Amino acid sequence: MARKVVTTVYCDACAKKGLEVKATEVLSIMADEYDMCLEHAEKFRDQLRAALAPSGDVALTA
Ligand SMILES: [Zn+2]
Repeated sequence: MARKVVTTVYCDACAKKGLEVKATEVLSIMADEYDMCLEHAEKFRDQLRAALAPSGDVALTA
């Protein structure tokens, strides 16, 4: 019989809140990889950008 195994990847940040939200993005920091929904990926990207931006570039704190 033909058999197909489907794996669903959930957002790590949503999983911490007990939610099962499908992950569509991957956040990589060195060897660490986090699966994220788009909302969380954007949130963490913005936080990293704000933390690492040159001091003259403060317009990213939304
Ligand atoms: Zn999420």
